[in-house]
Amino acid sequence: MRRPCGPGYPRHVAAPAKSLLDKVWDAHAVRELPSGQTQLFIGLHLIHEVTSPQAFAMLREAKLPVRFPARTFATVDHIIPTESQRRPLADGLAEAMLEALERSCAEHAIRLFDPGSGKQGIVHVIGPELGLTQPGMTIACGDSHTSTHGAFGAVAFGIGTSQVADVLATQCLALARPKLRRIEVAGKLRPGVYAKDVILAIIRRLGVKGGVGYAYEYAGPVLDAMSMEERLTVCNMSIEGGARCGYVNPDETTFAWLRGREFAPAGPAFERALAGWRAVASDAGARYDDRALIDGSALAPAVTWGIHPGQSIAVDERLPRLAEVPAAERAAVAEAFEFMGLRPGEPLAGTRIDVAFIGSCTNGRISDLREAARVARRGRVASHVKALVVPGSQAVARQAEAEGLPEVFRAAGFEWRQAGCSMCLAMNPDKLVGRQLCASSSNRNFKGRQGSPTGRTLLMSPAMVAAAALRGEVADVRELL
Ligand code: SF4
Repeated sequence: MRRPCGPGYPRHVAAPAKSLLDKVWDAHAVRELPSGQTQLFIGLHLIHEVTSPQAFAMLREAKLPVRFPARTFATVDHIIPTESQRRPLADGLAEAMLEALERSCAEHAIRLFDPGSGKQGIVHVIGPELGLTQPGMTIACGDSHTSTHGAFGAVAFGIGTSQVADVLATQCLALARPKLRRIEVAGKLRPGVYAKDVILAIIRRLGVKGGVGYAYEYAGPVLDAMSMEERLTVCNMSIEGGARCGYVNPDETTFAWLRGREFAPAGPAFERALAGWRAVASDAGARYDDRALIDGSALAPAVTWGIHPGQSIAVDERLPRLAEVPAAERAAVAEAFEFMGLRPGEPLAGTRIDVAFIGSCTNGRISDLREAARVARRGRVASHVKALVVPGSQAVARQAEAEGLPEVFRAAGFEWRQAGCSMCLAMNPDKLVGRQLCASSSNRNFKGRQGSPTGRTLLMSPAMVAAAALRGEVADVRELL
């Protein structure tokens, strides 16, 4: 029988303080492997059309069933067009991928949220909004930005195709426990500064490889004051800082979000779950391998200027001069300037853009669209700019429609689209053309990310994208608010 003060500890000896990472890891450890890795049970497996076909093929070849179909949920997001989702999809390859996912889900009794379900959307948007994502869970998905779900106090990470097959077949993964860095964001964000600016500042400070081997625990007054949607934005880009996963300790904001969600516990079960969710948060005195402190009060709206998310500046800063950059980074920085067509030492504000994209699993939620609409009400999209607003899910689209946001965007000259990944990765008809420069609320600015090998991406908050769309150039949203 368990002792009241914790498993395995006599009443007069306090259990050691533990982090959320350690609590969740230990609770899901099946066994330690000879390799030093842990065989970790995965509580929730999210799948989509891009990384699952090969995994299902591997299962069929090995004649294995899905071990826990009730723990697996599917959606279609990357390849889905955003102008018309009428079946069959106009692109034959996209239709074939969706049909393959439908067949695999039917064969293995997996719940699929397809466009006809009214619950389809980007996998990292629908998990939280349906209440599938809960504190204390282990969550895996064949997609890099699975770290998003850590906003609820889950340990969530992206996996490769062969690991998707492992989870389908066994509901387990062999993983090394990461080290833990606590990142505290102190102070209070100023108007016009958003969660996107916080995570871009963190990545700029710690580097795109700074998190390799680490999980990030985000904390401090700025995180405490954030909504769940803002925390989702921060955790989403953990992977862009190299971290295996990122999380925020669950609190009353988390619990309030979950209450009443379709897949969250209901009634007395919710009250019982609350005790467990509260207990999973990191204890005072938990051990961290590293700590970082960011002054949130000093942050300004951020914009990336280069070819990875660590290359960003505040919108009112000048681009770095090569002489100011450490010698080891100079060649990479020069390459970024050449690709982006930007000049060291000059301001980024005022740079003409061609496309504005508001959406993605980073910033395609209702609060993102509300902030962008607040800016869109101030004017009209510049005549040379193509501007898209793409809700992250059908539920987000319905909410936006109930609030009249599509009319606001259309009146300002934005295109209002249907739910999907859209131009974040451009595995669908929404793509940059040639060397177009795109102000984007997504999470990656790698060369060719938005569908054109020479296309260029400037990452920023949705409100900043809306400001850039109206001005036709990189602009400081604070001047418009
Ligand atoms: S929105 Fe972009 S980053 Fe997110 S799941 Fe889709 S393609 Fe990946």
